Amino acid sequence: MTLDVAWAVDWVRRSAATVDEHRDELVELDRQIGDGDHGENLARGFRAVVAKLDALEAPPATIGDVLRLVATTLMSTVGGAAGPLYGTAFLRASKVGSAAALDRDGVVGLLEAALDGIVTRGRAGAGEKTMVDAWTPAVAAAVDAADHGAPPSQVLAAAARGAQAGADATVPLVATKGRASYLGERSAGHLDPGARSSALILAAAAEAAAD
Ligand code: ADP
Ligand code: MG
Ligand code: MG
Repeated sequence: MTLDVAWAVDWVRRSAATVDEHRDELVELDRQIGDGDHGENLARGFRAVVAKLDALEAPPATIGDVLRLVATTLMSTVGGAAGPLYGTAFLRASKVGSAAALDRDGVVGLLEAALDGIVTRGRAGAGEKTMVDAWTPAVAAAVDAADHGAPPSQVLAAAARGAQAGADATVPLVATKGRASYLGERSAGHLDPGARSSALILAAAAEAAAD
């Protein structure tokens, strides 16, 4: 489908659904190298986002409006590390132009802005076993797909695959940022929960674009 405001709303609703569906998995991942709240925090945040969408008197006018609603709601409801990180990601993403629909460069710009927001907020580089390790390969895969002339939906599909590959690749890493870094070497051998939730959210974006 065209990546317009309806797509953005569908992306958000699908994100809420997939985070809810995978809540226990995210809790378990965070229990292994953190404090076990990632699934619950994120599920609560996206539930609040959906409630706000449902309560709007008029449908949101632009993609930016949708993403700004996600940003402010996640910032005020998720807490922990992930709330401000996802909040900043969606806030930056909400600022990429006011076009009615995203073309392939628009999609790349949105993903780059989100990654930029996460890095600005959390100061993690690639390889520190955080959500940056999902978003970095997601952006690289999106750029590559766009360079090869892929349509916007395929750019998102490539980003989603890149994110999941990046999340899987966090398993052997030793965490040097966030709560998992308290474990030092013992953080190795576990998948980073924020990288996994990032892959789920990007898969939701691609699925919304595919239908
Ligand atoms: P908390 O650790 O405060 O309980 P969450 O459990 O909700 O927060 O989120 C943990 C996730 O946040 C980690 O799995 C990691 O992906 C991400 N994270 C933590 N610190 C950073 C950081 N500085 N930069 C990027 N991502 C981070
Ligand atoms: Mg946690
Ligand atoms: Mg916590």
